[in-house]
Amino acid sequence: MAGEGNDTPAIGIDLGTTYSCVAVWKHNRVEIIQNDQGNRTTPSTVAFVDDERLIGDAAKNQAAMNPSNTIFDAKRLIGRRFSDSNVQEDMKLWPFKVIKGSKDKPKIVVCYKGQEKEFLAEEISAMVLGKMKETAEAYLGKAVKNAVITVPAYFNDSQRQATKDAGTIAGLNVIRMINEPTAAAIAYGLDNESEIVGRLNVLVFDLGGGTFDVSVMTIEEGGVYEVKAVAGDTHLGGEDFDNRIVDHCVSEFKKKSNKDLSGNQRAMGRLRFACEKAKRILSCTTRTSVDLDGLHEAIDFSLKLTRAKFEDLNMALFNKCIEILETCLNDANMKKSCVDQVILVGGSTRIPKVQHMLQHFFDGRELCKSVNPDEAVAYGAAVMAAKVSGCSDKSVQDMLLRDVTPLSLGSQLRGDRFDVVIPRNTPIPTSNAKTYVTVSDNQSAISVKVYQGERSRSTDNHFLGRFEISGIPPAPKGVSKIMECYEIDANGILTVNASVMSTGKMKKLVISNESGRLSKEEIEKMVNDAETYKLEDLAFEKKAKAYNDLEDCLYKMKYKIKEYSIRTSVHPAILKEMEKAIAETAKWLEDNQGAPFAELHLKKVHLECVCKPLF
Ligand code: AMP
Repeated sequence: MAGEGNDTPAIGIDLGTTYSCVAVWKHNRVEIIQNDQGNRTTPSTVAFVDDERLIGDAAKNQAAMNPSNTIFDAKRLIGRRFSDSNVQEDMKLWPFKVIKGSKDKPKIVVCYKGQEKEFLAEEISAMVLGKMKETAEAYLGKAVKNAVITVPAYFNDSQRQATKDAGTIAGLNVIRMINEPTAAAIAYGLDNESEIVGRLNVLVFDLGGGTFDVSVMTIEEGGVYEVKAVAGDTHLGGEDFDNRIVDHCVSEFKKKSNKDLSGNQRAMGRLRFACEKAKRILSCTTRTSVDLDGLHEAIDFSLKLTRAKFEDLNMALFNKCIEILETCLNDANMKKSCVDQVILVGGSTRIPKVQHMLQHFFDGRELCKSVNPDEAVAYGAAVMAAKVSGCSDKSVQDMLLRDVTPLSLGSQLRGDRFDVVIPRNTPIPTSNAKTYVTVSDNQSAISVKVYQGERSRSTDNHFLGRFEISGIPPAPKGVSKIMECYEIDANGILTVNASVMSTGKMKKLVISNESGRLSKEEIEKMVNDAETYKLEDLAFEKKAKAYNDLEDCLYKMKYKIKEYSIRTSVHPAILKEMEKAIAETAKWLEDNQGAPFAELHLKKVHLECVCKPLF
């Protein structure tokens, strides 16, 4: 079974919009794994630079210089259609190009190795997941295959499926997907295991870089986690707060200089970076400034920004968070006075106004800040990974999780009516069946269209897929019955079966291509592509190392040959030969910066041979 055995440790990955985090259960506790830069979270950023691909910190660090080939926010695209209004809005602010691909899937266009390349959001997310996998492998010293990946609780089926596909493309076996706030609650529960007596009502308020989730749940003594309700917005988070500041700066720049900088990608990239930094500063001071020299057409930009202005710019979004919170409590049928603990998760919960509004909503109650807002989700994912892998630790094994489905699922009926089969906030795994009858005489086939959402008109909801069930025996309308059975697994992923009751003929919904799901062949191709990119990265690293080694060797020899002891002890003819070899190699290196690994290596071996007397 996937994830079995302690030789192949399963990891937990929080795949965030702006940052990702990886953790593992080791020595009976969770370890948050540092990346190669020593950081515990890694930017979910991928960049394409000349002939190199960068992922994580290296990609983010060069973003301002290379905005059109630095990709972030893949999580805002994953599982969405190009025509989605959120995608259209985001595109206006992204410095990279997004085009409409087949089946209305958005494709990101970059320039890599002098060629235009197109990537799906799944592929970019797979690159980030691949980096997290490598980080874990470097730490554990062995290959990692199995992983638990977290998703926002409010992700719909397409977004979940696409995230799972990203895991597969990254070479991971996704043994479970859990909701981010649930993972954070596990982190809280495990940290406070000894203090939980009886039953605790907790509210997880998870405001990250791109998504917002609220979960109302109970934690029972002994490690039973039961989600009562979730609510959220998969397009609300820190990036939206940044965007509001960016918009404000663009209009201030226009006021001062009468110039529109919004079309200047490089300037927008620099501005976005500076605004995000200013936002963070405003969480600890009440005023700061955004200063950028030569921002657009060599015009400098400087703007004082107060915390009050920042709050004013984002008030509508903060209010939206509180409205969603109220919906969630209503759905859970829980009064706010019954909430024992409000847990803050996600980087954006550091914003003082958010904390203040939340505290005010809960009539002045202290908020729980004991879990690390950046790491709690990965922490919980690692615990889940250990449990699914069969870890023998008691607190892990005893843990029991009952989650819910975030959005209602159902079929389209005549007149575009949406008939709910599984209502939102139903505990999962679950299944439910409904029976429908034919609507015309001798109707021989029925088209089952599956949607997800809360609107009464099907087409206002998210379309997941459709299939035809044919071979219905001739009969007057209303006589033949078709049973549709909806089933949601522990990952929150849906399967729909329909059967003609009189014949038993059955058909299963495989989320169809038109809904945007990747086919098996497409995934296979992307797995191969990902492997090719990985090999290319390795080849590049090898070449870069050989270049550095040769340069380093030249540098050392240039200095060594000047030493008095060398010049007096080595025969002048040999000395001359060595000087000649050093000068020639230095010139060669200058003229052949892009030389392949083999040539660079050979030059170094040759130089070391000639200059042996130096050492
Ligand atoms: P997460 O998705 O949980 O990693 O959260 C990332 C988001 O949190 C980004 O939008 C950050 O800009 C934001 N963030 C991190 N630290 C702070 C802070 N001190 N104040 C405001 N926002 C922050």
